[in-house]
Amino acid sequence: MSIEEKGSISIHTENIFPIIKKFLYSDNEIFLRELVSNAVDAVQKIKRLAALGQYNGELGNPLVEVAVDKEQKTITITDNGLGMTAEEIKKYINQVAFSGASEFVEKFKDAKDANEIIGKFGLGFYSAFMVSDLVEIQTLSYQDGAEPARWVCDGSTQYEISEGNRTTRGTQITLHVNAESEEFLETGKLEEILDKYGKFLPVPIKFGTKTEQQPDGEDEEGKPKTIGVEVDNIINTTNPIWTKAPADLSDEDYLAFYKQLYPFSEDPLFWIHLNVDYPFNLTGVLYFPKVKNDFDMQRNKIKLYSRQVFITDEVKDIVPEFLMLLHGVIDSPDIPLNVSRSFLQADSNVKKINSYITKKVADKLAELFNKDRKAYEEKWSDIGLFVKYGMVSEEKFYDKAKDFALLTTTKKEHFTLDEYREKVAPIQTDKNGQVVYIYANDPEKQDSFIQSANKKDYDVLLMNSPIDNHFVSQLEQKLEKTLMKRVDSGVPSKLIEKDENIESVLTEDQSKKIAEIFDKAISKPGYTVEIVGLNPEELPVTVTMDEFMRRMKDMAAMGGGMSFYGSMPDSYKVAINGNHKLINKILSTEDDAAQSTLAKQAVDLALLSQGMLTGAELTAFVTRSVELI
Ligand code: ADP
Repeated sequence: MSIEEKGSISIHTENIFPIIKKFLYSDNEIFLRELVSNAVDAVQKIKRLAALGQYNGELGNPLVEVAVDKEQKTITITDNGLGMTAEEIKKYINQVAFSGASEFVEKFKDAKDANEIIGKFGLGFYSAFMVSDLVEIQTLSYQDGAEPARWVCDGSTQYEISEGNRTTRGTQITLHVNAESEEFLETGKLEEILDKYGKFLPVPIKFGTKTEQQPDGEDEEGKPKTIGVEVDNIINTTNPIWTKAPADLSDEDYLAFYKQLYPFSEDPLFWIHLNVDYPFNLTGVLYFPKVKNDFDMQRNKIKLYSRQVFITDEVKDIVPEFLMLLHGVIDSPDIPLNVSRSFLQADSNVKKINSYITKKVADKLAELFNKDRKAYEEKWSDIGLFVKYGMVSEEKFYDKAKDFALLTTTKKEHFTLDEYREKVAPIQTDKNGQVVYIYANDPEKQDSFIQSANKKDYDVLLMNSPIDNHFVSQLEQKLEKTLMKRVDSGVPSKLIEKDENIESVLTEDQSKKIAEIFDKAISKPGYTVEIVGLNPEELPVTVTMDEFMRRMKDMAAMGGGMSFYGSMPDSYKVAINGNHKLINKILSTEDDAAQSTLAKQAVDLALLSQGMLTGAELTAFVTRSVELI
């Protein structure tokens, strides 16, 4: 066959190949995504031309075929799309594809962080040279009287165009795979890449593999003869659910799609179908998964597509941080995919998409809450984590969520923020007009405090999820005239400061004496004894940790707030109820040793009721108790 034209591709950088190769080395599998997407585009273009009446020939069944030949070391991608004329090859491949590549090099040859740009810059057709020594195009355009054309290039700036051999409309790209890229000749590897990027492409993708089978007979060496047998598979679903109208889909469809994406996951709680075409284009389905305790484990489960081509599962800048735990698919041609991260953050479409998703999620939650409150309450322990996280991290979301966020009490009742205030304000307002919300973060350990609070008709909230530390602070800031106090942050009658003040019946001398006895009885550092006047019915001794101090320490432990507090030793208050008859008994006991034993016993009981008595101290307590009996 005669060569019709030999030419030199005019680009500024002579030596682009080694540079691009350096950048894309770790991500070179995207060549297949790029070539298959081009083939899909070509098929969709001919369909559109036919629909517009600009093409009247036979359309045939739209199809893209990928095949591998291990012996020849080639991968071919064939489509029955619109094809190209020799002129179009010159224009689109020589100029567009190569200028894209040289622009890339110009822009990024001084880039410091190669990782930033790997895969973010669609090199399109040129990426074929990542894995090939030689690339060949055979194509026949749909246009009347078009001649088949052939183009060959080794990735340098030299190319060759000659008469082609194609007899049917469409394009075949043949990659002569280079020595370093032979892994791509493995069918398993190709299947994996096609599955990752092409699972939901809009045109059927056929993957033809040659499998070795054993027919009758033996070869010359007496081994069983093998022949290649074509096994064809369509690897994709061309119309995944996010491309359909919600009205045409059932719950089963959504659940089946979820299973397809995450085969080993439990069913999701519910889902949101996203569909917007103005001011940006976006479709998708987001699922609320059942959350496991581990906060970070399920991140990066949302897959980002652009016109059904998989792009990435790093959606960090597109999806609000607090929704990163969601699963599902987002498809948008309006997200700039070929740019660096910092650009993405500044992009106005990306910002709009981010707030759209936040709004949709809020709307969906509001709808669930309004439609079936009971079902919503049942799911609250799972979705509460997202909602609280969102309220803490995004002002806009807080404003929406304040109407459907629930507070759960230790009695497992649920209230909205407004309902709860109405419930507790009459009893739990202190002398300064502040409403005190009492909460427990470890109801087992804090049981004695909860019971005491309940005895006073105080309600106790359950705040035991990983986010509740922050949520408590957030509520205190947002709700007017509200104080949040952990149930064990003070003796029950002092949790809410009221005007009534019970005096201790002890004289100053007696108080001093009692303080001395207890000081001696408590040998551990960090404990401060304090004599208070409480109701005689309340416990003789209560050990508490100051609310402010404890919160600062919690924050420091979670990596937020002032780490200074984290290094402080724990400090506790030991409140002695001067009005309790046990205190009287200790005072009237003559023997010093007996006084000390009683004091120790009373303190240990207080610690025991909070799960704070362990190890040798617990053993000593048990021994002492046995002796007392
Ligand atoms: P992009 O796809 O981003 O435009 P590419 O470098 O991948 O850039 O491709 C350049 C151009 O070459 C395409 O826009 C298209 O016009 C043409 N082209 C590539 N592959 C095919 C194909 N299989 N069939 C028809 N035209 C193609």
